[in-house]
Amino acid sequence: METKSRLQIAVIEKDADGKNGPYCPVCGKVSSGYDNDYNEVAPCVHLLFNFSFDAGEYVYQTLDFANRVDEYVRHQEELDPEFEEPRNTDDFNVMLKALGYGPEVLVLEITSCGFACGPTWETSNYGYNFNAEWDNDDEDGEPAS
Ligand SMILES: [Zn+2]
Repeated sequence: METKSRLQIAVIEKDADGKNGPYCPVCGKVSSGYDNDYNEVAPCVHLLFNFSFDAGEYVYQTLDFANRVDEYVRHQEELDPEFEEPRNTDDFNVMLKALGYGPEVLVLEITSCGFACGPTWETSNYGYNFNAEWDNDDEDGEPAS
């Protein structure tokens, strides 16, 4: 089978409707939000990372992903002291390929509109690894590496 290296990024704009979301395209579990008792929902094993463009930081990332990013950033900073971590989807695309991810990863770039003293827009990247598997020995659902 021919191996493709192209990552897939879907750009989505949605209205804020008070509902949770997004939902994992692999298993259907909500990737961010709260349950009926307002407890924060833990993401499923497929969620690789959630990056908030507005906060400029990762809201969630797996340990393996965080380690790969740290190594990538360190290497890039050695090449270029002015290097800055990815802050837009095109830069994410370049970085994810360099981290060794391929077509098993789908990134949803979701922009939503809400209201806080007027309309506010918020954009986040959600990366899903379709090949991630549950570690059956780990009840907490940490991804098997
Ligand atoms: Zn999932």
